[in-house]
Amino acid sequence: PSKRFKGQNVLITGASQGIGEAAAQYFAKEGARVAINGRKEDKLRAVLETLPKVEAGEHVIATGDISHEETVQKLFKESIEAMGSLDVLICNAGYQIPSPSEDVKLADFEGVLSVNVTGVMLCCREALRYWLKHGVKGRVVVNSSVHQLIPKPHYLGYSASKGAVDNMVRTLALEYASRGIRVNAVAPGAIVTPINDSWVKDPEQYKAVASHIPMKRPGESQEIADAMGFLASEESSYITGQTLYVDGGLTLFGDFEKNWS
Ligand code: NAD
Repeated sequence: PSKRFKGQNVLITGASQGIGEAAAQYFAKEGARVAINGRKEDKLRAVLETLPKVEAGEHVIATGDISHEETVQKLFKESIEAMGSLDVLICNAGYQIPSPSEDVKLADFEGVLSVNVTGVMLCCREALRYWLKHGVKGRVVVNSSVHQLIPKPHYLGYSASKGAVDNMVRTLALEYASRGIRVNAVAPGAIVTPINDSWVKDPEQYKAVASHIPMKRPGESQEIADAMGFLASEESSYITGQTLYVDGGLTLFGDFEKNWS
């Protein structure tokens, strides 16, 4: 492997499973020291044991709910102290709750926004404070979704949250561009992770989902981690405020493949 993140320190939220775990594997394999966040210490410890070791030191566990201000401040402080610095922030944690929109519970709606939007803001704010204080040209990659663009009926809070993420990424990118800090997003399509157990584990539903994707298959977490790596690396040094769709063509208006004329 190229080890293109050797000597760098990366904090990843929601890294106990799914795309966040794949991102942790990716950055550790590429030589970075990683701080993995999630809410459950035991799950994080299990992931930590599977990560490739790096010369710079042990990887770090950063347990806590990213929607709580003081928790975020504490886990950033402890992670940065343990690793010595921070170069890359991967804002990955997020969740969704289905409901017909006329029945949405206020607590569910606010809960989704508090993690998917406020959590991203809190983590970005801590990273920015550190980078500005220490003159670091940091990079943020936020995990958004194709649903920042495609409406997702029955998931009103989730759709709203990813729409907000789109604007937050562009706003932060503009605000800090002149200081060399880059902020971008990846927008996954349908990816095989525990968030999608409802269709991943049901062969009929899996086939139905795959048939709607122009590339005729869902994506793997690794394919999202690769895109995160690109946006966090020097290869994307002139890219900021952008969303990279990693979706097998899901956002290409697939019905037009049928050549209507
Ligand atoms: P997942 O449910 O497998 O993993 C989510 C992770 O976030 C878990 O580690 C969970 O513990 C953590 N998390 C949730 N709430 C948290 C909180 N308050 N504080 C700290 N950690 C918290 O989901 P996934 O599919 O890997 O999704 C990761 C991200 O990718 C999410 O932002 C999701 O919206 C986005 N995404 C996923 C898909 C997909 O098809 N899987 C598609 C588009 C976008």
